[in-house]
Amino acid sequence: MQLISFVLPAYNEETNIPLIFQAIHEQFLDSDYHYEILFIDDASTDRTLETIKSLAVRRPEIRYISFSRNFGKEAAILAGLQHVNGDAMILMDTDLQHPTTLIPKLITGFEEGYDQVIAKRDRTGESGIRKLASQTYYSLINKIVDIELEDGVGDFRLLSRDAVDAILRMNENQRFSKGLFSWIGMEQKIITYQNVLRQNGETKWSFRQLFNYGVDGLISFNSKPLRFCFFTGVSILVLSMLYILFTLFGIIQDGVETPGYFTLISAILLLGGIQLVSLGIIGEYVGRIYFETKQRPAYLIQETNMQRKSVNEQSE
Ligand code: UDP
Ligand code: MG
Repeated sequence: MQLISFVLPAYNEETNIPLIFQAIHEQFLDSDYHYEILFIDDASTDRTLETIKSLAVRRPEIRYISFSRNFGKEAAILAGLQHVNGDAMILMDTDLQHPTTLIPKLITGFEEGYDQVIAKRDRTGESGIRKLASQTYYSLINKIVDIELEDGVGDFRLLSRDAVDAILRMNENQRFSKGLFSWIGMEQKIITYQNVLRQNGETKWSFRQLFNYGVDGLISFNSKPLRFCFFTGVSILVLSMLYILFTLFGIIQDGVETPGYFTLISAILLLGGIQLVSLGIIGEYVGRIYFETKQRPAYLIQETNMQRKSVNEQSE
């Protein structure tokens, strides 16, 4: 019998833990597969960990890793991928927004030989603004980045053992999973489902975090913004030279005219702005280099009922 491993990042999901376990369990009542569930408690401040532990006492399928502090969902996903042993693994949210009824379909995809079976959600029930914002973002970003990022495609997916190993070969510290999944390529199948609104607890995404996530997506996978700075610089240089020549001829013909407050202040502000933006873009890259060179572990484990891996393996 093959084993399906579930990786469930959980941050303040105490009410959802028993529900999601039950929902997954039901999908395996008469199945040809074993399953294990690995909860990654991202240092929740409510009783999430206690709930998981009391469940784990009764159910041998349940494993958990608890972080020493909140390291974020990306770190939780990484920890999950590093620790599961299944022939395939399913990554989903603990908040029941990813319908467990899709599990058989995901597994069917796996049986058909796909390395990634991706559950894609439509955007029913979301506000018009949010829909528009994400659509614009994705059409924009796909013009810029070299990998394909799709709207509605998130972390909810099944990965074969090969796909998991491929993901784990990427050593970067600042992980943008959505991009990593797309980067490895391999045989992919997409299943669409209807968006589910959150029932319990609340979303952990503030507007600022979404914005930062957006910038990460832009910067993590290419250096085109740097090239953009370069081209802007070249264009401005060419324009300035034309302007200087033009003005010089004017002066030769008509003599010096003194007024020029407006042109002067516009030029200073415009150039200043462009320079600051370019510096900011460079700064984003330098900042990333700074953190990558430190080679810090992506997370620290406080408590677990899994076999501990060596420190080296953890930071891999
Ligand atoms: N999550 C996490 N660490 C965090 C924030 C969220 O592990 O710092 C988990 C959370 O418990 C949930 C999943 O990541 O299972 C998705 O989070 P959320 O529902 O807040 O995001 P959304 O569904 O709104 O994208
Ligand atoms: Mg959610």
